[in-house]
Amino acid sequence: MSTSVTVIGLGPMGRAMAGAYLDAGYRVTVWNRTASRADELVANGAVRAATVEEALVANEVVVLSLTDYAAMYAVLEPAAAALEGRVLVNLSSDTPERAREGAAWAAKHGARHLTGGVQTPPSGIGSPEFDTFYSGPRDLFERYEDVLKVITGTDYRGADPGLAALYYQLQMDLFWTTLTAWLHMLALADANGIGASEITPYAAGTLGGMSQFLDFYTPRIEAGQHSGDVERISMAVASLDHVVRTTRDSGVDPALPDAVLETFRRGAAEGYEEDSLTRLFEVFGRGAA
Ligand code: NDP
Repeated sequence: MSTSVTVIGLGPMGRAMAGAYLDAGYRVTVWNRTASRADELVANGAVRAATVEEALVANEVVVLSLTDYAAMYAVLEPAAAALEGRVLVNLSSDTPERAREGAAWAAKHGARHLTGGVQTPPSGIGSPEFDTFYSGPRDLFERYEDVLKVITGTDYRGADPGLAALYYQLQMDLFWTTLTAWLHMLALADANGIGASEITPYAAGTLGGMSQFLDFYTPRIEAGQHSGDVERISMAVASLDHVVRTTRDSGVDPALPDAVLETFRRGAAEGYEEDSLTRLFEVFGRGAA
């Protein structure tokens, strides 16, 4: 079992990963475009590679934590001759298609590629209670699972290199819209003299209750059952109109709830006024308005 790794890319995530490997007793070689970001890790025992080539030849397993796949090409292309025989654990976020292209590019240079999508901020790195999605060759995943488990728990999604990126982007779709909605709520509360710490427990209560909605609606969506027996799109349009007007009256930017209102109006215009909000699943699936 490998007890040494290279980590390339020392943003907040890569630094946390390299730190977790050091804590687990691994020999860790690091490289970053901005070399100073490695200083603390080096002080804690990591080896600073002077070049990308040096970082690649130091270890079989190379963890990449870069902004995106374009950054991977920028870093690795000039050192591609040193990729032969490496196992690239690519934890950089990007689209499923870019992940597939990246895996093919790595194979062209004699390296094997596991795509990863990490589901925790840096504070959760090193904790088994968080998971990282992986996809790529199963034998590769299984062979290096213990090494991967130093970063977080693992959730292998399948052989297609795009799958881990897809599952990650699905989560991000939910994550960004949810967190942005919370920030909008805070701005609306603030404009009305209610502080973040006062309103956030209510936000947490609403978000905590969301899983009940998901449990209730999922089998209905899968059965194509969108009847308006519990709520109707016409009610949602009226409710969202109240949210938008409250926002406008408070002097807060209404663009976010307005976009949601417009989506429900589109559902109503398509003839689903009397149906459940779950009809939007089909409306979205038909593509742009
Ligand atoms: P950052 O974007 O802060 O840092 C990533 C690294 O990419 C840095 O080391 C940076 O180098 C390097 N980099 C970017 N562009 C280039 C380039 N053209 N050439 C060379 N190096 C480059 O990302 P994070 O550390 O926050 O995250 C890493 C990945 O993990 C991202 O894909 C992110 O989406 C994902 N992720 C992040 C989470 C988070 O909470 N931060 C949570 C889950 C996933 P330099 O230091 O020189 O700028």
